[in-house]
Parts: sequence; structure tokens; C-alpha cells
Amino acid sequence: MTREEAIKGDAISRQTVKDKYEERLVNNLKDKDRGIDLSKYAEEPYKAFCEFMDSIPPINSQEPRTGHWIVKTYSTKMNDTYYGYECDQCHKEYNLRTNYCPSCGAKMVEPQESEG
Ligand SMILES: [Zn+2]
Repeated sequence: MTREEAIKGDAISRQTVKDKYEERLVNNLKDKDRGIDLSKYAEEPYKAFCEFMDSIPPINSQEPRTGHWIVKTYSTKMNDTYYGYECDQCHKEYNLRTNYCPSCGAKMVEPQESEG
């Protein structure tokens, strides 16, 4: 698994992302060499970013909802084959399998073997 695949559907702390974003904003608005400090202007974009972050549905780590990827196969006119992966919980489709569904947050597991 590449790093890109590994981080695509992972779970991270919402507060950490907000803190890192604020830190970056403030640093970009300061120029120590020229004695410029415009960090007071970080407040508005930081607030907007927090509202955006809070609009993303949480993944409840206490009771993880699980699902699995439904593999779809497509053929182009040139007879190339490509794959799509549909979440069995929310039915959104992606071109990459991730550990968690980016849409509904379900933890993706292997489909259950039929019993018996
Ligand atoms: Zn989903």
C-alpha cells in the first residue's frame, strides 16, 4: 500500500487539523525580517475553516459502523478495464479502496463469508 492509499481513508483528529491550519495561517501572515505581523487577519479564515471542518460527519470510534467495497468492473470503448468501488452502506463510488468510506465514515472490512 502506498502512503497516498494509506492516508486517503484514515481517521485523524479534527482539532489537530484545526490547530495545524491556524498555525500555518498565522505563520504566513508574519514576516519577522520585515517586522510585519498581520496575524490578526487569521481569525476570519480560521473561523470559516472550523465551520467547514465541523460540517464533516464524525466517525464514531466507539461503535464503528462497518461496510465493504463492492467491486465494479467497467470497460471502455478501447477495451481497457477499470474498477470502481461502491460502499455497500451509502452506495457512493470511488476509484480507490480506503480503510473508511470517505462519504459515510463506515470502517471497511472484508465481506462476511456466508455461514455454514
Ligand atoms: Zn459509505
